[in-house]
Parts: sequence; structure tokens; C-alpha cells
Amino acid sequence: MKFHRRIAIAAAMLVCFVAGPAAQATPPGESPLSDRVVAYRIEGRYDPKTHTLDATELLTYTNKTGTRLDRFPFHLYLNAFQPKSTWMTEAQRSGQRDSPKGKPWDEKHHGSNDVKSLEMVGANGKAFDLTKQIKFIAPDDGNADDRTVFEIALPAPVEPGGQIQFRIHFVAKFPEVVARTGYKRDYLMAGQWFPKVGVWWNGAWNCHQFHASTEFFADFGTYDVTLTLPAKWTVGASGLQTASTENKDGTQTVSFHAEDVHDFAWVADPETKVVEDSVELSGGRTVKIRLLMQPVDRATAPRYLGALKGTMRKFDEWIGPYPYPQITVVDPPHGAIASGGMEYPTLITADTTWWMPKSLLAPEAVVEHEFGHQYWYGMVATNEFENAWMDEGINQYMELKMMDALYGPTTSYLNSRLGTAGERQVDLMAYASMPDRDPLARPGWLFVDGGSYGANTYSKTALMLLTLESVIGEKTVLRGLHDYFERYKFTHPTPADFTASMNQSAGQNLDWYWQQAIYGTQTLDDRILSAGSKRVDWYNKQPEKKGETFYYNQVVVHRRGTFDLPVVLEAEFDDGSTVRERWDGKDRWHRFVWQRKQKLVSAEIDPDDGQWLDRNRFDNSWTAFAFHWQVWGLQDECDDERKCSQCGGPGLASSAPAVVDLRLEPGAGLAKLACAARHRQPGAGQQPGIGQAGHRLRRQHAGAAAAAA
Ligand SMILES: [Zn+2]
Repeated sequence: MKFHRRIAIAAAMLVCFVAGPAAQATPPGESPLSDRVVAYRIEGRYDPKTHTLDATELLTYTNKTGTRLDRFPFHLYLNAFQPKSTWMTEAQRSGQRDSPKGKPWDEKHHGSNDVKSLEMVGANGKAFDLTKQIKFIAPDDGNADDRTVFEIALPAPVEPGGQIQFRIHFVAKFPEVVARTGYKRDYLMAGQWFPKVGVWWNGAWNCHQFHASTEFFADFGTYDVTLTLPAKWTVGASGLQTASTENKDGTQTVSFHAEDVHDFAWVADPETKVVEDSVELSGGRTVKIRLLMQPVDRATAPRYLGALKGTMRKFDEWIGPYPYPQITVVDPPHGAIASGGMEYPTLITADTTWWMPKSLLAPEAVVEHEFGHQYWYGMVATNEFENAWMDEGINQYMELKMMDALYGPTTSYLNSRLGTAGERQVDLMAYASMPDRDPLARPGWLFVDGGSYGANTYSKTALMLLTLESVIGEKTVLRGLHDYFERYKFTHPTPADFTASMNQSAGQNLDWYWQQAIYGTQTLDDRILSAGSKRVDWYNKQPEKKGETFYYNQVVVHRRGTFDLPVVLEAEFDDGSTVRERWDGKDRWHRFVWQRKQKLVSAEIDPDDGQWLDRNRFDNSWTAFAFHWQVWGLQDECDDERKCSQCGGPGLASSAPAVVDLRLEPGAGLAKLACAARHRQPGAGQQPGIGQAGHRLRRQHAGAAAAAA
């Protein structure tokens, strides 16, 4: 009885709010951006004391699958935050974004989504109570205690082209912020908060359990959401606000409409202040910006806005138009970082602190990153459970490119007098720590742990696309991503769709690259094995004569890794002349030989600095000069992860070049350098470690070296 009355009130309210003219709805005669499968109408009342939302959901599902559907799976994501859930088991075992592995779990982080009733509404308006049909399933791991997916069997199937309506009464209990959702004091970030139907994809239902490292997957459609919550609170949400009324009981009722999106999130907070702005994009389009700022963070607002506008313009230029009328950016309060750095359609959460130095571009990077998701998650709606790299990884590459374009390639992450770092260096540090534990093409929950998921899904994909620039050119990679976006926006492409699209744009078959980089765990690790010069007339007792004596100059390049990639080598001779040579990389090693009257003074693999998949770029160069850098600074014991890759011994010290190279190279490079300092004092001839570091520094980073010294 109570349920039915609630439904009636909800339906009446929704009719009021939704059936009226809505300025942001698709104008008559214009076709929607997406092939809309779902239409959600949700009305809920939030109780800030118990952090619960009591709501009703009317879901209209249009069967566009071409097949009869007799059962429907639904996500109940908030049930992940229960002690025996799969999410919690995995988070305890392997760690998770907001909690290291084994961290004791506080009950305040418990959350739940409780379906009180579920009805199916037939075409004739007749309702069938299917509440007792609800059956929890665990398609990924069989965990009988996991309640993040349930399924219902229908009394009669939905025919192709037909529609079905579900009326669901549910109570969502939010956790204290964890994994991108929940409350902190009065602030609430509501993500993954309502029963959400799975996706019929590739001939089957796709509705995975919520895992500690996975994100989401859903169909496009419309959302009409009406929320009743305390008056005076600032509310933000996906889509646009369509109505707002103050109620006599000290509450307000606010309505939002979003279309051609596949999720809906909202935020409410009494402290938040709204900053409004806009950005002009191509074709004279203006997008409204709604920045929901914590007062204590107000100094960061211009930084957020600068990064956001710059990013939006660049995406517009490089990838394609942002078609929505508004973007909302949420600045979470102190202590709610677990809700920061997250993307929802037309709403993103940022991340900063009141003391954030200007030299650390974290607020800029997070806004750039989350906005980028509007393209690779929001519009190109890949299956994040199964192919997270297609969203997070492509987006990470775009972050790197955008941040470099906006803030400079060597200063896009850290830009201080003490040191600088670019996005690519940060990605290299993450990737190089575990480059071969999992292939990119692997369901998120099957990675060995959260560290490998992050290092590969994000950083390896970014560096994989950056390295691809060295094969087909930067412009072709960006044009390929533009074409891929245009071909697959508002659809659910697969990895094969992506690679085929990129091949087409590049005008060549790059499957040899994709097989290694996406489907394999091959690592790229090229090095100069040996190099030097000898007199051709070595038997001649006469002294050498510069410009007259012939030398046998050679460089041996060794492919230590298993990733086949053509190698470019640049050699420099003592008259200042240089040569560039190419090797197809299809063997374990290759010897380059030059007989000439000049002596070899240096050699470098990848002289254009393009092969960022090379896990150890520290051994890519050689110089004939004997460098001896005085060891100074930290006497730092390296941990097990940073053993010397050559001798296996612990790293010892940080030296001047090490300080510089800490920015340029991954941790392994530092350990190796330190080890070289300890075990291989530089002498004449080849200089493993230090000499090469000196060479690289000298050639490319002299300015940075001088600044650091
Ligand atoms: Zn992301």
C-alpha cells in the first residue's frame, strides 16, 4: 500500500517536471545524439542524518537487441561496501584506490542498496510484483555473499522493438566516502546510487559484479531525477537543473534532466559555493561551466577553470565537439578525497587542498583527466569492466598530450625551482615498476593487484600511444583518435574496433604493434651493449694522426626485452658529424660499423626521445668520455623493488645526475645509477650507468642538470 502511494506521487511529480517544456531537451525534429535504450525517472528523499536516500525508480527499457529478452540483470553497486562482498575481499587482498591492502575497514564505510520492491509494468499498465523473483548472482567469481548484481526472470519476454517498464522502490545507504561515492560530514557525492540495468552486448547480458579495481558500463538514455533534501544546500548533478521548489518542511525539491548519457551522479552540500563561467568552442557554441567550490579552496578556482577551458578547447580542436550544454566540476571538501578525481557524464569531481603549491599541477591534471573522460567514457562508452585501458589509458595519453600542450612537456606535472617533471616521466615511473605483469586486454578484476592495474591500464596505455608516435607520427596518432571518436561516439566499441579504426586512419596494418602492446606482456628494453673505436691499422706502431688514421667504429645494440620495435641509432664522431642508422629490431642484437677517419664519441638509441615503452631508458646512450660525478646528497637504501638490474645488489646513493635522472627516469634507473657509482667506477671506454647518464644529460637536459646542480 505504502509503495503504491509512493509510486503514484512520484509519477505525478515526474509528469509535472518532465512532461513540461524543457529547454535542454532535444528539439523536435532533431534526432538524439545516442540510440537511447533506457529512460530513468527517479524520485528520492535524502535524509542527511542517516545518509540514506529513499527513492522510487521508473525504468523504461527499449529492447533494441534484436532478440527476445526474458530476464534482466541489475547492478546494485552500493552493496559492494559490505564485509563479504567481492569488492571488499579484493580490496583487502590487493588494495584499492582509496585503501591499501589489508587496511582495517571501518564500519562507517559500509553502504548498501536495498530493493524494497520491484514491479514490471506491462504495456496495458498492469503491474506484476517481481520482488520475490530477485535473485542475486555472481557471474564473475561465484561469491554467494556478493549482492552487487541481481537478476529477475520475466513472466513474459520482451519482444525485439518492444518496451518494458520496471518500478523499483529502493533505499540507498551511502558510506562515508569511499571509491568515489558517499558522504563526509554534510557533503554527499552520490555516485552509483540506484539500481541500474546491465547492457546487452555482443549477444549476451553484460552485468559484472562490482570489483575493487573496476569501473562501469551502461547503455545510453535519458535521466529525469527529482531529489528532496535540506533547503539551502547547493546541489549539482549530471545534466541540467529543470525545476526547484522550497518546501514548507525546510526542504527543497530539485529536478534534473540529462540525455544521451549512460549514468547520473549528483552532489549536495551546505558549504559549497557556486562559481559560474563558460567557454566558447568551435562553431560559436558556448558551454556553461558550473564550479562547485569549497570556500577554503577558492584560490584554486582559477586553476581549475584555466585547466578546464584549455582542455575543452584542445579536445574540441583535436578530437571532436563536446555536445552537452554544461559541465559541472565538484571540488570535494577536506577529508572527502575518496570522492575526488572521478568522472560522471557532464559532472566531474576534482581534487585539491588549500595549501596546494602552484608548482605542483595536480589540480590542473585531475580536471584535465576527468574532463577527458567525457570523450573516452562518456561518449565512447567502452566496457570499463573488461577493457579499462580503452577509457583510462587512452584518456591518460590525452592527459599527457593536453598537459604538455598547456603547461610544457617537461613541466606539466611539477614546475618548481627545485625540480621539474612532465606527465610522461610520471607515467614512465609507474609503468617501469611493473611493465609485464598483465596485458592491457584483461578484465580489470583479473589483474594481479591494484598496482599492476594502475601501472598498465593507465600508464602503459599512455606510453604505448606515445611510442606509437615514433612509428606513425604524432599527427597520425591524434588524427586516428579523432577518427575513432567520430566513428564510435555513443556506442560501445571493442578493442578490435579501436585497432581496426587506428589501422584505417594510419593507412597501414599495425597489428604487429597492437599484438605486443595490448594483448601481450612483451617489454621493450633496448640498450647499447658495447661501443668503441679501434685503429684499422692496429698493428701500426706510428702514433694516430687526427684526420688521417682510419678507425673501425662499432656500436652493438642489444634488445634485452621481448618487444619488437625498429631501432634508430644516432652516432656522433670526433669531428662533430653525426649519422643516423636504422635496424628493424627483429633479432636479439645488431652491430653497426663505420670505417672512417673519425672516432666515435657518442651513440644513442632513440635520439628523438620517442620510445617511451622502453622500460629502462638509462642504458640507451654511450659516450667515450669518462664522467665521474661526485656522489653527494642522500645516502639512500633502496628497497627490494629497486635492486640494480645489472648486479642485483641494493642501490646505494643518490648523486647529482641521479637527482636529475630521478625526474627523467624510473626508480630502476636511479638504483642502477647508484649501483654503478658503487660497483663500476667509471674509467676509460664504456661507462655503464654514469657515463651514459652524463651523455643523455649533456645532450638533452643540460638546462635541467644545471638547475638541479
Ligand atoms: Zn580516469
